[in-house]
Amino acid sequence: MHQDVERILFGEAQILAGTDRVAEEITAYYRGRPFTVVSVLKGSCVFSADLIRRIPNPLQLAFVSASSYRDGAVGGELDLRFFPTENEIAGQSLLLVDDILDTGRTMSALREDLLARGAAEVRTCVFLDKPARRAVEFEADHRAFEVEDLFVVGYGLDYRGHYRNLPYVGSLKASVHAGAPTSPSHA
Ligand code: 5GP
Ligand code: MG
Repeated sequence: MHQDVERILFGEAQILAGTDRVAEEITAYYRGRPFTVVSVLKGSCVFSADLIRRIPNPLQLAFVSASSYRDGAVGGELDLRFFPTENEIAGQSLLLVDDILDTGRTMSALREDLLARGAAEVRTCVFLDKPARRAVEFEADHRAFEVEDLFVVGYGLDYRGHYRNLPYVGSLKASVHAGAPTSPSHA
């Protein structure tokens, strides 16, 4: 275990079992209908890579980035950057995939934006869900795990750009994160 990690919450085997379960739900929902996975960078790249390989449906992959600035007086300021081109969005069925659903602002803003750009359908899938922290009403259509109100890293999730490569999800030692997740978080 990494020296900065306090406790492992989800190990590799458990993560893969959760990913399998979500992949089965998604496969059953689309029933062979083509769709596009829109992976929210950077945090969801690890989960998205494991997830898509467990879905046998025809699908395409696109990316979007969302950075939040949480230390300002007005919370929830989001900087959205779309890598999908207009024809990857307009009229398409999209599955928006993020690493963690926290206040819900990121997923909610992204879903609205994609619908406003003409997506036919926007479903949502998150690796982790922290319902205790929700600030806007939002539920994901699919989620692998619910997690307690702790700042977690690993399996794509970072703290100041680090720890994304840990193969498990763990909580950071308080001495390391001091104040997260209220510090600026770049998804
Ligand atoms: P929301 O808009 O739902 O508040 O925030 C979602 C984003 O905040 C996630 O995509 C992630 O970048 C960041 N975030 C929220 N909670 C955590 C956490 O416990 N650990 C890490 N690494 N990032 C988090
Ligand atoms: Mg993120």
